[in-house]
Amino acid sequence: MRAMVLERPGSPLRLAELPVPQPAPGQVLVRVAACGLCRTDLHIVDGDLDQPRLPLVPGHQVAGTVVARGEGMAGSAAPGALAPGTRVGVPWLGGSCGCCRFCADGRENLCTEAVYTGYQRDGGFAEYCLADERYAFALPDGIADLQVAPLLCAGLIGYRAWRLTLATLPRQTDLDIGFYGFGAAAHILCQVARHAGHRVHAFVRPGDAPAAAFALSLGAASATDAGSPPPCPLDAALIFAPVGALVPAALRAVDRGGVVTCAGIHMSDIPAFPYADLWHERRLLSVANLTRRDAVEFLDLAPRVPVRTTVHAYPLTRANEALADLRHGRFEGAAVLVP
Ligand SMILES: [Zn+2]
Ligand SMILES: [Zn+2]
Repeated sequence: MRAMVLERPGSPLRLAELPVPQPAPGQVLVRVAACGLCRTDLHIVDGDLDQPRLPLVPGHQVAGTVVARGEGMAGSAAPGALAPGTRVGVPWLGGSCGCCRFCADGRENLCTEAVYTGYQRDGGFAEYCLADERYAFALPDGIADLQVAPLLCAGLIGYRAWRLTLATLPRQTDLDIGFYGFGAAAHILCQVARHAGHRVHAFVRPGDAPAAAFALSLGAASATDAGSPPPCPLDAALIFAPVGALVPAALRAVDRGGVVTCAGIHMSDIPAFPYADLWHERRLLSVANLTRRDAVEFLDLAPRVPVRTTVHAYPLTRANEALADLRHGRFEGAAVLVP
């Protein structure tokens, strides 16, 4: 099979011909139809996340079809078993230990033994990939492969960030929520938040008029440069851009009792800020990965919104070009590789 391979961080991906992997018991082999690109892929390629398996096939927003299951699993008729032919999505969280206190609480996103797709196990920048059957999710009908792929990280982690943010607030309606960075995750979550009746205020890279226009086209109530004051005090702010300086800016934009949620896996250092910016019960929260509950809930919710993703398709072999375009913000929405 063809795959794009990272041999060492800091170097471009290389097109390689690899054997089609064979599923072990508990795994499925997925024929990849589309695989989304994520800022985390850039962090892996750049070496900001420093524990990749090498050589590595990146990619953790896989939409595809199960073509084989590993032999020898006692539960071949187990509930939830993914039969060949099932359309599935494979997300970032690729597996967890299943027995630690985090896993026992349904917080497998915090498991210290967790493994991540396209980081510690080969992912979807390829024609086929393997997935743990417990961490592959049946995809909703009515959203094509290309459009559904970005839901598997941008959508899921955005959803988790939004859900955890709401859990800190005393009410769930009549909310003004700021989104810092209006890329793949924000463009999905904007639709979800509006569906819930929230007002979304987009904060974009200074001078990025196309991103501001894109946010307004998706129903954002306002779109301004990050760093400028919000049009009204915010109940919450979600930071999607990996820029630590946005944290104090967002804390100043939220009202008393408000919350600032960092939704990314990596961020530049946060500059020092006066305690007064955190005072009055403002909170700062980070959101890590996703749980299976997030995946099941969000893949049920997305078609009911309905979420419509804006995607830019690239052939698999042009993965490096797609990564460069993502790095430089050359498109709105999400990039997707097609084998
Ligand atoms: Zn991701
Ligand atoms: Zn665990």
